[in-house]
Amino acid sequence: MNAQPTLSAAGLANLEQRLAEDLSLLELPPKEWVPVSEHYGQRVYDAVVIGAGMCGLVATASLKMLGIRNVLCLDRAPRGLEGPWVTYARMETLRSPKILTGPALGLPSLTFRAWYVAQFGAQAWEALGKIPKGQWMDYLVWYRKALDLPVRNRVAVTDLEAVSDDLIALTAADLENGSNERLYARHVVLATGRDGLGSGYVPPFVEKLDRRFWAHSADDIDFAALKGKRVAVVGAGASAMDNAATALEAGAAGVDMIIRRKDLPRINKFTGISSHGVVHGFAGLSDDWKWKFLQHTLGAQTPPPRDSTLRVSRHPNGRFFLGTGVNGVREEGDRVVLETARGDMAYDFVIFATGFNVDLAERPELKNFASEIRFWSDVYRPEEGMENGELATSPYLGPDFEFTEKVPGSSPALRLIHCFNYPASLSHGKLSGDIPAVSDGGRRLARGIARSLFVADRQIHFDNLVAYETPELQGDEWTDSADLIPTLMKGAAE
Ligand SMILES: Cc1cc2nc3c(=O)[nH]c(=O)nc-3n(C[C@H](O)[C@H](O)[C@H](O)COP(=O)(O)OP(=O)(O)OC[C@H]3O[C@@H](n4cnc5c(N)ncnc54)[C@H](O)[C@@H]3O)c2cc1C
Repeated sequence: MNAQPTLSAAGLANLEQRLAEDLSLLELPPKEWVPVSEHYGQRVYDAVVIGAGMCGLVATASLKMLGIRNVLCLDRAPRGLEGPWVTYARMETLRSPKILTGPALGLPSLTFRAWYVAQFGAQAWEALGKIPKGQWMDYLVWYRKALDLPVRNRVAVTDLEAVSDDLIALTAADLENGSNERLYARHVVLATGRDGLGSGYVPPFVEKLDRRFWAHSADDIDFAALKGKRVAVVGAGASAMDNAATALEAGAAGVDMIIRRKDLPRINKFTGISSHGVVHGFAGLSDDWKWKFLQHTLGAQTPPPRDSTLRVSRHPNGRFFLGTGVNGVREEGDRVVLETARGDMAYDFVIFATGFNVDLAERPELKNFASEIRFWSDVYRPEEGMENGELATSPYLGPDFEFTEKVPGSSPALRLIHCFNYPASLSHGKLSGDIPAVSDGGRRLARGIARSLFVADRQIHFDNLVAYETPELQGDEWTDSADLIPTLMKGAAE
């Protein structure tokens, strides 16, 4: 039977009631089972999740759904401003199609669709094209509230330290009052986003340029100040288009897209083969095959969304310069000159939409572990012609997204730190940085942590097994019939 779900605009309160019922039917969240542990009298968290963007929320929820509830999720951003959606993501709508169930963890009443229909009705859902980015943020805020997730905002994790092979200390800086707190955790999840192991990348020659001339696409840019200015945007991805469009809409005199490629990529390769096979199978591939899949994907590049590209090209003063790689930059008076493969080009301001890189020196929270972490470049040599810098700097993760050691045995506590962000893609596939398979990623992560906690606490669980003495039978349910045995022999002889 192919019945349509009967969703109607009955308001969020009703949806929350339905969600509560669904959770109750599934006996979720289950009872807590991890033994309490302390360090010098201070309660130790079973897990601390750093980052309350989409991945951090899904990770925290996935742990809760496995009965791991002594968890804390921290984000340096204010509530409702986590992640890129209403900060540096300058698109109008998500690229992802509205039908993806993303963070919903298999619960119908936790989907974006249920949230949307509950407020605007089924007809509005049918009429909706792509999801406005502000509504996606609103949904994530609701998700956190509906699942009652333990998130603290305006807290930055500035340091991680191995207290022992089984315990991590975190320094949590309260950005409101300037205080520092030392927290202890048995597992740490880095849900720190696209730049979670590094920062926004710009070509090295840009660093010498005065900051008044340039920004990275993920910076907080004052677009109003670009009114009447000539702007260049270097790059051709989604962010390049969205930044260019935002500058044009803010009244820039002109915006030039400076693009190294002779043509824009047109095919979204990895999305094209998406399936449960990829989601669950990718991690089972050999290193060779993992590399081959992602090297091909990165080589082909992800096209900018059609809507974002049209948002630029519909402005007559939005121009595209292809085959125009930038080789250098210099300042000339109030202008910045891009030295390109096709000659010098002068602008008032340049936005570099040149992506993100892995650079642990940029992440204070990882400074104590930076030299210990194993990367793909430590273990894998691609064939000639298959080299790729982004893949080479991906962390070489274990089956539960945990870091592995560059030198085995040198930093055993590394296995307690789980890298649940975009750079995990080469080890696990795209389970920790995009909407489509984030629930699968969260569940894989949470199951791994559950297994690790249970194994670590095996003595306590065994003692509980031995000590467990609650009878199911009372002893009055049967009588021993041994006195009948002679009569049975007698019956057989006859
Ligand atoms: C312009 C743009 C458009 C996108 N569009 C889509 C799309 O349509 N579909 C899609 O699937 N994906 C899209 N993405 C990818 C998007 O980044 C991810 O889907 C999503 O944000 C991943 O969630 P995350 O939790 O990994 O990272 P984020 O959402 O970035 O969250 C990371 C969080 O970690 C916090 N944090 C980092 N370091 C610390 C620290 N030390 N202490 C405390 N907090 C910390 C940050 O404040 C942040 O809130 C887009 C990305 C961009 C930039």
